[in-house]
Amino acid sequence: MAAGFAPDGRWLVERADLQRLLDALTTAGYSVVGPTVRDAAIVYDLIRSVEELPAGWTDRQEAGRYRLERRDDKALFGYAVGPHSWKRFLHPPVAELWRAQRTADGFRAETAVDDAPRYAFLGVRGCELHAMAIQDRVLIGDRHADPIYRARRERAFIVAVECGTPGGTCFCVSMQTGPAVQSGFDLALTELIDGPRHAFVVRVGSDRGGEILAQVPHREASAVERAAAEASVARAAERMGRELQTGGLRDLLLRNFEHPRWEEVASRCLSCGNCTLVCPTCFCTSVDDTTDLAGTTARRVRRWDSCFTMDFSYLHGGSARASGKSRYRQWMTHKLATWIGQFGTSGCVGCGRCITWCPVGIDLTAEARAIRESER
Ligand code: SF4
Ligand code: SF4
Repeated sequence: MAAGFAPDGRWLVERADLQRLLDALTTAGYSVVGPTVRDAAIVYDLIRSVEELPAGWTDRQEAGRYRLERRDDKALFGYAVGPHSWKRFLHPPVAELWRAQRTADGFRAETAVDDAPRYAFLGVRGCELHAMAIQDRVLIGDRHADPIYRARRERAFIVAVECGTPGGTCFCVSMQTGPAVQSGFDLALTELIDGPRHAFVVRVGSDRGGEILAQVPHREASAVERAAAEASVARAAERMGRELQTGGLRDLLLRNFEHPRWEEVASRCLSCGNCTLVCPTCFCTSVDDTTDLAGTTARRVRRWDSCFTMDFSYLHGGSARASGKSRYRQWMTHKLATWIGQFGTSGCVGCGRCITWCPVGIDLTAEARAIRESER
């Protein structure tokens, strides 16, 4: 830990000095990615200024519904989560894996070079840190590490911000992933607003976090400020929009593989794949091989895929999951049941994105509850 920054210490950075944090990260060679308003949603994008943060905006979320609304203060992080997750920067939607060039005597294969910058992620929620840990396990935690993910992840700097405004579809408390931030960050902020007072209580989680904070005006937080930060997170924990009863959930789903509820949900599901694309833990991909018209260059490109497409489970002769019922069941039982045997944790962190961004408002907490209640 950098000198002067004990792990249990708390420091205070004034709102007026937050730009100095972005400047310090930029000077250290990071490209800062943070929340910003675009297309009537809060998305993650490259930012250079605090002025680009969603000051005074919040998100109202329900099943199949997302709206931005004005807050009555100028909070910079006064929203839950939007349609983007950090996986679009760590596990990009499209990535070239290799290409081959025709030569006089055959062809030459070249491994693609990933020229992504060193990212500093600003505004990472507790549930999102857990989602990163889940993708770490999948993509670099076994014999076959994904080099693109590993390089981006190892270079990334994480500025977490504890959630004070959970959305109507959030259930991180059920999944024990938030709203408090516990580990996996370089710096962790809790936003405090009280009338004209606007500041951040800061924790330091790594040496490099301490090196950055040392460049930002700060002082030790008072006992009152520490208590206010803890109270803000405690209030958020009491305002979860959803709940998922996780006790015995894995066995419940696995013993109900032929439950009529799967047919019922399939009658509503459009198989659009939105839920997999917005999910911060879904990791499945396909590869496309293409050749240019001149026949001189071939490329293999990886892109996000979804277990909701017919092609995803295509084997010789047809799709292994030809019905909507089998595809929804595959997705939900993988998230909440078989993921545990495969990777040791649930595949769901309770962020609520799949509920909000499902065009017909299908809610996996309601589906799990319906199956549980049918056994009573
Ligand atoms: S399954 Fe839904 S609630 Fe769970 S992590 Fe994925 S998007 Fe979030
Ligand atoms: S559950 Fe909703 S978001 Fe997912 S594939 Fe079906 S309709 Fe699309």
